[in-house]
Amino acid sequence: MTELQLLEAGYRKYSGEEIDVFYSKERCEHAGKCVKGSIEVFNPKRKPWVIADAEPADEVARIIETCPAGALKYIRKEER
Ligand code: SF4
Repeated sequence: MTELQLLEAGYRKYSGEEIDVFYSKERCEHAGKCVKGSIEVFNPKRKPWVIADAEPADEVARIIETCPAGALKYIRKEER
């Protein structure tokens, strides 16, 4: 999906240097895989709850792929 498609689908963008993270509250099942993957990147008690640069981009991407609900997406900057 493109950034525009994600935003139109209700995802919120959390920008990083190498990777942008997108999150859809409506799709989230609160399974917590993201939080278990990295509390530095995904911390629901913090605002903003996502900090895309808190781990290397490869690790952020890997964690996002564990989300069972499709509530997290990412776009790598070099893909643009
Ligand atoms: S892994 Fe996905 S479904 Fe689970 S809490 Fe994180 S965003 Fe929500």
